[in-house]
Amino acid sequence: MKRRKFVNIMCSSYIIYNFLPINFAYSNNSKNIINTSLSDSQKNIMFNEGTEKPFSSPLNYEKRKGFYHCANCDAKLFKSDNKYDSGTGWPSFTEALPGAFKTKIDYSFGMKRTEYHCAKCGAHHGHVFNDGPGKNGKRYCNNGLCLIFKPSD
Ligand SMILES: [Zn+2]
Repeated sequence: MKRRKFVNIMCSSYIIYNFLPINFAYSNNSKNIINTSLSDSQKNIMFNEGTEKPFSSPLNYEKRKGFYHCANCDAKLFKSDNKYDSGTGWPSFTEALPGAFKTKIDYSFGMKRTEYHCAKCGAHHGHVFNDGPGKNGKRYCNNGLCLIFKPSD
């Protein structure tokens, strides 16, 4: 009886020290994973502020009419009418749908840039710059892996 109790205590400690920290890490708001089939590359961009290789996304060449949704939570983020070829190698847009994103100043790599996150799930999508060709002068530089394109017809 005494031995079993000891084993139980040891097992509980093992569980607390080895598994709980991971659960806590994934349950906080900064890692709000809704789509459980996201790949490691998608998770790295969306929750660790990563960036995909330029010219790697097939969405660079997407020309159909439709909407671009968040790959994590499915929120509608961009309209195809606002997509353009910026030559940077990342899907680029002159404007986002109203309320789609929240922005934050990012000082990494010695640069001051404005990064944006999905307003619904908090996932990182890209950076917005003031050199866009549209009337508001914005260029949303979005990682293709964070987007799901849904054609309208
Ligand atoms: Zn989202």
